[in-house]
Amino acid sequence: MTQAHTTAAARGITSGRPARAVIAALFVDFGDRGRQPRAKYECVLCQTTEGPVQGAEAVAAFTASIKSEHRARCTAPQEMHP
Ligand SMILES: [Zn+2]
Repeated sequence: MTQAHTTAAARGITSGRPARAVIAALFVDFGDRGRQPRAKYECVLCQTTEGPVQGAEAVAAFTASIKSEHRARCTAPQEMHP
């Protein structure tokens, strides 16, 4: 079974509170029989792709921490005020 779990939306919705803009996408391929699960993370801001990683453990660890990990090393400005 293959599922693509995507978190991607680069919409600047400004309604009252500053909405946290999602400017990166996490792609997870859960694999199949005989096919390793894979995951990669793409940051739109700095044009960086993290991964892909392969294997159940690697994917689990990757998906759990890549957002904060990448944010720590993202070269794009993290705070953008219009
Ligand atoms: Zn980045």
